[in-house]
Amino acid sequence: MTSGAVDAARNILTGLHEVMASRQHAQAKLNTVVEVIGESLHSEVCSIYLLREGMLELFATRGLAQEAVHVTRLAIGEGLVGTIAEKIETLNLAEAAAHPDFSYRPETGEEKFHSFAGVPIVRRERAVGVLGVQHVERRRYEEVEIEALQTVAMVLSELITNAGLIDDEDAASLDPAHNAPEQLRGLSLVKGLAQGTAVYHQPRVTIEHIVAQDTEAERQRVILAFDKMREQIDRMAGQAEFGVGGEHEEVLETYRMFAYDEGWTRRINEAIDSGLTAEAAIERVQQRTRMRMRQIDDALLADRMHDLEDLANRLLRIVSGQIGTAASLGLRNDAILIARNLGPAELLEYDKRRLKGVVLEEGSLTSHVVIVARAMGIPVLGRVRGLRGYVREGDMLLLDAEQGMATVRPSPGAIEAFEARFAKNREKQAVYASMRDVEPVTRDGTRIQVRINAGLRDDIANLSLTGADGIGLFRTEFQFLVSATLPARERQTRLYRDVLDAAGSKPVVFRTVDIGGDKTLPYLRHDDGEGEENPAMGWRALRVALEREGLLKVQARALLEAAGGRELNVMFPLVAEPWEFDEAKAVFEGQLAYLRKTKRMLPEAIRYGVMLEVPALAEQLDILAPKISFLSIGTNDLTQFLFAADRSNPKLAERYDWLSPAILRFLRRVVTSLEGSNVDIGVCGEMGGRRLEALALLGLGIHRLSITPAAVGRIKDLVGKTDLGEIETAMRGWLVEPPANLRETMHAWASARGLLTD
Ligand code: PEP
Ligand code: MG
Repeated sequence: MTSGAVDAARNILTGLHEVMASRQHAQAKLNTVVEVIGESLHSEVCSIYLLREGMLELFATRGLAQEAVHVTRLAIGEGLVGTIAEKIETLNLAEAAAHPDFSYRPETGEEKFHSFAGVPIVRRERAVGVLGVQHVERRRYEEVEIEALQTVAMVLSELITNAGLIDDEDAASLDPAHNAPEQLRGLSLVKGLAQGTAVYHQPRVTIEHIVAQDTEAERQRVILAFDKMREQIDRMAGQAEFGVGGEHEEVLETYRMFAYDEGWTRRINEAIDSGLTAEAAIERVQQRTRMRMRQIDDALLADRMHDLEDLANRLLRIVSGQIGTAASLGLRNDAILIARNLGPAELLEYDKRRLKGVVLEEGSLTSHVVIVARAMGIPVLGRVRGLRGYVREGDMLLLDAEQGMATVRPSPGAIEAFEARFAKNREKQAVYASMRDVEPVTRDGTRIQVRINAGLRDDIANLSLTGADGIGLFRTEFQFLVSATLPARERQTRLYRDVLDAAGSKPVVFRTVDIGGDKTLPYLRHDDGEGEENPAMGWRALRVALEREGLLKVQARALLEAAGGRELNVMFPLVAEPWEFDEAKAVFEGQLAYLRKTKRMLPEAIRYGVMLEVPALAEQLDILAPKISFLSIGTNDLTQFLFAADRSNPKLAERYDWLSPAILRFLRRVVTSLEGSNVDIGVCGEMGGRRLEALALLGLGIHRLSITPAAVGRIKDLVGKTDLGEIETAMRGWLVEPPANLRETMHAWASARGLLTD
């Protein structure tokens, strides 16, 4: 690299800085830019072509005939300029006329020039123009000169869009491959339909300054940002953003590899040396990698590219201080959120009225983010491979989380068909809603309890909307998840009291906090500050609550006070041994004694219950049964422990079936072992909200389901059509001698009896 070329590049950037800061209008700025570049590179010609009405129009030139400005127009793919735009690639030619795509335009008077270098002006990964230089002499341009041109192109892209010199429609028409509708397949994690605009959970950073004032300072900023990013990556294991366990290890490994990649840091530093700010340098290097990767058609490499994009964006956020997610920036209406993965707390930050759907690259049916989305009534499509490669911020999306797909940039026909389906779906919902006052009684006369799961203040309304029999699981930790700090006792009391007030005579079962696992709280960390290898089996739920006694004591007081004068139903999560229940109950009894002593109003009655989520507890139900009033089976956790299959691991999302003899036989044993006791038994996992699964539970003798509110109509409908005796007999047979595929068998059985029709 010659020092002359480096100086030239620096001159261009300095000149550019002045032009951009000036008060000239856009066309005048373009005119000055071509002069600055021409002078710095000593090139006879410098021209800018911009996209207008689908053609590349000469907007500014130094060296070509001025009469050609706004007259010369090239089609995409026509000549060298058109080729650059079409292929979004840089050309660097010592003899332009020798290139097969060269096409001569007499009005420009360019016949005397030999060498040519051109770079695309890119916006949202599409070319919206071309910047080119020409020399009379035969020369190849040096890398640093090309870099400078690419940087100018980056600045021009900002300038021309801000000045409205091209419009997005024009840009959109350029790249049919990127603009075509795209159908993405995934796994429906929360069923439903939605139409809206793609919004990235982690928005791209806007770069405000491109040209550096002090190169050394920029270098330092990048060094610090790299340090911080590496620290983050090293700490990242176990964070919800990455899912927990399994696949994320691989991702983290790749992240680590990139984060410590010297080539990457070197290229960024070189870009800074050429006069860029840290932000612009990161973006420049990224742009170049992106362009290189466009030419490689390899799914694995594309995945890695997304990882690098993620990381570059993270670095940009650190260096620019723009660290907010789309939630903190305020959501547009009808937004469909795009992310690799989300934590439940991150989702809760979004405005529920504006958020219409979520599409994730990862995700699994029982991960808490999905449970939260279900509670919020937001459809979620997960496991969409390559998602972020297909969807751009602002794209229109039709989310069909009934059939496991999403259409990006849909055609008018697709929109029409979707809207028809949407209307039909609403009708179906209306039918379910009309069942609000229908009691769930089986055909042979058994009243089934259908309750809802809840956790947010807003969920309370679902009780009257669905006509459910109460709240069978109130996840108290949701309040903790949405708070920036540990919620004070008064706030907890207020929420519990409001819930009880709204429920009136219907029962509410409060579950004490279940934090840990994939529900991490930034303000409540493990004592040694370390992430856990297996958080789902780690320091979570009652284990945390018993160790941090203050936590459970405060919650016990809040619950007891809120339930003053009425019945309190409280249950403890993740109990593995009866003594854990004893200790938790003792905390409540201690608080009760205190309230009694201080003459406060006490609950009329307290019913203690336990969640069955840990298989070990099933072996000790005879010991536990006399102590408790009810047992609620948490099939989400129970099945992950039965199968040793992490509920948050997307790779395992479809591997095991709830309708497996292993689970159903296990549940049958639990039901049998409680026969003759006074313990009410129910299920509050996601399983109960699905028709075939609910049918199986009925067949096992479980008559109390607590489910997601959206499923209440569906399950009431099922109950009303079911003959309990018949399904009990059938289930007995299936469990003695399981068919090869129980799901298929049950599906056929239920369909034949019209149980699955709407
Ligand atoms: C369960 O584990 O089934 C359950 C209902 O609790 P959570 O999903 O909140 O862990
Ligand atoms: Mg659980």
